[in-house]
Amino acid sequence: MTQKDLLAGFPRAQLMSGTTPVERLDRMSEKLGIDLWLKRDDLTGLGFGGNKTRQLEFYLGDALAQGADTILITGAVQSNYVRSAAAAAARLGLDSVLQLEERVPDMGPDYYASGNVLLARILGAEHMSYPLGEDETGADAALHARAAELKAQGRIPYVIHLGLNHPPLGALGYVVAGQELCQQMPDFDAVVVPSGSGATHGGLLTGIRMSGVSAPVFGICVRRDQEKQQDRMAVVLQKLADLLGIDPELVLGEVNVWDGALRPGYGRLGPKTQSALTMMAQTEGIFLDPVYTAKTFAGLLDLVQEGRIRSGQKVVMIHTGGLPALFGYQDQLHI
Ligand SMILES: *Cc1c(COP(=O)(O)O)cnc(C)c1O
Repeated sequence: MTQKDLLAGFPRAQLMSGTTPVERLDRMSEKLGIDLWLKRDDLTGLGFGGNKTRQLEFYLGDALAQGADTILITGAVQSNYVRSAAAAAARLGLDSVLQLEERVPDMGPDYYASGNVLLARILGAEHMSYPLGEDETGADAALHARAAELKAQGRIPYVIHLGLNHPPLGALGYVVAGQELCQQMPDFDAVVVPSGSGATHGGLLTGIRMSGVSAPVFGICVRRDQEKQQDRMAVVLQKLADLLGIDPELVLGEVNVWDGALRPGYGRLGPKTQSALTMMAQTEGIFLDPVYTAKTFAGLLDLVQEGRIRSGQKVVMIHTGGLPALFGYQDQLHI
């Protein structure tokens, strides 16, 4: 079976505008002494773009195949996933229910009203809230309770699960992205990508190895420390290999994670994140988001400093989007 056939077995909704560009960052390359490229997955197209568009092509494909009329999803208050899911549902003529979790303490009024929160309200989705951010099982249970109510009313709900005990359908979108990158530019020495749920990192690594490219893929921790993320990635990669029917040994020994830029924690801006964000804007005119991509770029700067990325190497950073969250964090940015 060819690699294309492996993916063709999964129902997929078309949400992407096309392939995303890979651009060289000339001024930043010179500054860092490396050959730095950016894959612009902030430009995936739908509803302010970002990595979730790729992941949702497979979840929404599955939902449509099951005849669903309502999508349910849970995430942080400024979740890009939740906003992108509501946009994808609108595009396909489905309703959506969004559950927002209190994952980030001590945030101001912009966090609860602007950015992704505003966009999700414009999209007309039903909103619920969940008080605990670190209780994946409880958050899923609350979503299932709402799905059961909808079912009793004759609706056909579809829950997008983010927890580890479900097949990582979203990671398939990043298998596609890994293959796409290897077709665009197969001669890179390293890739740097945010590692949150691990769907993006795991899918990308798998797609790159399936394309026969052996460069390291560094996952920058945005939510958990290195040890926890390493364990999580092993589960994600095993489940993804099962889903695709490939040998997990292709990827299992290959997980590189880095948590040097994680502090002070998920969704919170430390000085490193803040200066990475302004450095990219002021050097290249490219915006990064406060939760994922600025932290990822801060991690890339660490890897260069530590010598794990060596001078002159050709490096691709994946810009996974998330830009609406900037407006939810404006009172946290010291500029
Ligand atoms: C969700 C998200 C990530 C993390 O992706 P995972 O697949 O959950 O690891 C990275 N960047 C942005 C902008 C996101 O919204």
